[in-house]
Amino acid sequence: MLRKVVKKVLSVEQAEGRGARVRRSIGRKELRRLDPFLMLDEFRVRPPAGFPDHPHRGFETVTYMLKGAFKHQDFCGHEGVISKGDLQWMTAGRGVVHSEMPATEGDNVGLQLWVNLPKAQKMIEPAYQELLATEIPSMTQDGTTVKVIAGESMGVQSPVRTHTPVYYLDFEQQPGARVVQAVPQSWNAFLYVLSGMIRVQSADEEEDVESEAHHTLVLGEGDSVRVTNMGPEKAHFVLIAGQPIGEPVAQYGPFVMNTQEEINEAITDYNLQQNGFENAHGWRSVAQK
Ligand code: MN
Repeated sequence: MLRKVVKKVLSVEQAEGRGARVRRSIGRKELRRLDPFLMLDEFRVRPPAGFPDHPHRGFETVTYMLKGAFKHQDFCGHEGVISKGDLQWMTAGRGVVHSEMPATEGDNVGLQLWVNLPKAQKMIEPAYQELLATEIPSMTQDGTTVKVIAGESMGVQSPVRTHTPVYYLDFEQQPGARVVQAVPQSWNAFLYVLSGMIRVQSADEEEDVESEAHHTLVLGEGDSVRVTNMGPEKAHFVLIAGQPIGEPVAQYGPFVMNTQEEINEAITDYNLQQNGFENAHGWRSVAQK
């Protein structure tokens, strides 16, 4: 059964970090969460704006660059630059403190997705999976090109290992191109449109939904989604889907746990630089200096 669009929300630009602007998809008030996803931001940042030193605990942050580059630096000495098409899948686990700053003078554009971790994995050791653009598998069929950031599409599998089963697919379509993508029945799924004009076609034409850029389309029940590029230009969108974790969520900014008590512990651990935040002692990123 084809999934239809059950909710369509425009991501209006808002302030975030230090002088940065983001279009928030999941995580805005009309789309608070979509289990296992906590947030998706389309960020557009020029220096000196950015995201200087801040902590995370209890989930994963996934950064995918669309234009320009970003430099990251963490409190364990892990650092690097991710450029257009590159991916950083960071498992914050029990604790990471890092900075994320633009690395070119112009617009630095990308997506940051927050994927929740189940209770049993919230306090695991932090880990990184980094893929260059050339290492992300890709396939083209009938005018649609997919980059498989996570999961599987057109018979191609991503090498990224995710704690929570997730599909993260970047689609580019020529005008008139149509794609049908399988999405596991029990998973939550949504599209975020980056450019062009697409139509999500369900079994009943009257329920088709068209969308321009910067909109989130939450998909209803079904085992696949059918998308057509309706415009005269290329269309670009991501399909993100995941198996719901089904646990209570307690969130305070960059700390995402199951209970308020665990949030209080996270704040205490961060303030006292303990239980995973030891390396925060005396550490400042280059961006913060
Ligand atoms: Mn961060």
